Amino acid sequence: MLENSIIFDIIYKYMKNQHSTQHTAHTSVLANRQSDVIANVLYHEFAHSSHYSKVGNTFWFNYVSYVILNGGYGNASTTGSERIEVSEGWADYVGYEFAHARYGLQHSDMNNRTNTWQVRIENFAAKPVSGNFPFDAGGTMFDMTENGEPFFTLIRDEVQTYTMNEIFNALQPNVTSVQDFHQVVLAQNLNKEILAVNFLFSDYGF
Ligand SMILES: [Zn+2]
Repeated sequence: MLENSIIFDIIYKYMKNQHSTQHTAHTSVLANRQSDVIANVLYHEFAHSSHYSKVGNTFWFNYVSYVILNGGYGNASTTGSERIEVSEGWADYVGYEFAHARYGLQHSDMNNRTNTWQVRIENFAAKPVSGNFPFDAGGTMFDMTENGEPFFTLIRDEVQTYTMNEIFNALQPNVTSVQDFHQVVLAQNLNKEILAVNFLFSDYGF
C-alpha cells in the first residue's frame, strides 16, 4: 500500500497538471465560478480521511463523539476542543493549499482577484480564545511552510522550511492538541527553526 505522503504528492502533481491544461480552456472567470469553493470542501474532506487513515479508530471515535456531544465543533472553550484544533487545522490547511494549487488566480472571488485561496489561509488567524469559532491551526500549519505574515494578524511568522509531508508525519495518534503537535513536529525534525516555531505557536495562542 502506498504511503499517504506519496498519495498526496501524486494528487498534488495531478492537480498542478490539471491547472495548466485547463488554464486555456477556462479563460472565462465565470466558467470556474464557485467550483473552487466546492473543490476546497472536497480537499478538506480528503484531508480528514488521510488523517483518519494515519491515527486510526480510537482518535476518530473521540473526534466523532465530541462533534455529536457538542452538536458541531463547539468553540475554543468547549472541553475537548483541542482535538478539533488539530483535525480541522490540518483539513483547512490542505483544503486551501490544494484549492490554490488547482485554481491560482482563477478563483471565484471576482471582486478581489488578489484574494487567492493561499492568501486566505495566510490571513487565517483564528485564535483559540474563549468562545471563538473557528479556532483551528490551519493558519499556523500554513505559516510553517513560508515566511512573512500580514501585519494585521500580529503574528510573528519567521518559520519557512517545513513541508506538508513533515506536518502530516507529526499527526500521530497521540497528537490530540496543537500543543502535542508543536512538540512532535519539532522532535521529528531535529528542532528545526525552534525559536521561530515557538514564537509562531505562542503568537497564535496555542
Ligand atoms: Zn473538517
